[in-house]
Amino acid sequence: MKKKLIAGNWKMNGSLATNESLLRAMLAGVGQATCRVAVAVPSVYLAQCQALLAGSVMELAAQDIAAHEAGAYTGEIAGSMLREFGVRYAIVGHSERRQYHGESDETVAAKAQRALGCGITPIVCVGETLAEREAGKTVEVVKRQLAAVIHANGHCVSEIVVAYEPVWAIGTGKTASPEQAQQVHAVLRAQLRAASANADRIALLYGGSMNPGNAKALLSQPDIDGGLIGGAALKAADFLTIIAAAA
Ligand code: PEP
Repeated sequence: MKKKLIAGNWKMNGSLATNESLLRAMLAGVGQATCRVAVAVPSVYLAQCQALLAGSVMELAAQDIAAHEAGAYTGEIAGSMLREFGVRYAIVGHSERRQYHGESDETVAAKAQRALGCGITPIVCVGETLAEREAGKTVEVVKRQLAAVIHANGHCVSEIVVAYEPVWAIGTGKTASPEQAQQVHAVLRAQLRAASANADRIALLYGGSMNPGNAKALLSQPDIDGGLIGGAALKAADFLTIIAAAA
């Protein structure tokens, strides 16, 4: 059975002082976690967090990655640069980047491709808005988003991680029920199986207000292989409880 993956997304939160106390508290409680654990920290803190996590079971993730290798792309951070700081995963296509930075399905696919080219596992986020769900378009939207990544990445798609994050559940306290999440995960799993003989090794994470109270039920679903966690990843006790629920 593949190990579950619990990944925290700190978003634009933290400071040198709070990062240190948060990671020290997590490291004190994480022990020999039986699942994979990662934290996606703001890029300016990668060096600090790399040092704090050295030798531990917790791995480092970036919240984004440039679609290009190098060059005149002011403000962007290349995968090769992230690798120098021990980055193992990069979130791509988070709904906040799609929404506030206009990232298209094609841009997200190109970022996933760049990540794979640098030896970084992309955590590809897909998910529908409330309006799309209410219009009955959930399956159409997530399949379209994932299809772009499959198309651009061919057989390498078995190396990605996918996170189903219904936009209406992110940071809102509204969680998809385990059944709602499982339904979409099953659709994504079938789509990946049709694209790759190795699809079953792909971790499918759920994200959207996962917390200590709902983690166990979500993580018990057959096609939910872990979680991408925002708010609850900023509290050591909550994050550790979710890690324990994934064991
Ligand atoms: C996220 O931003 O990826 C996320 C899942 O956030 P939250 O857990 O706060 O809903």
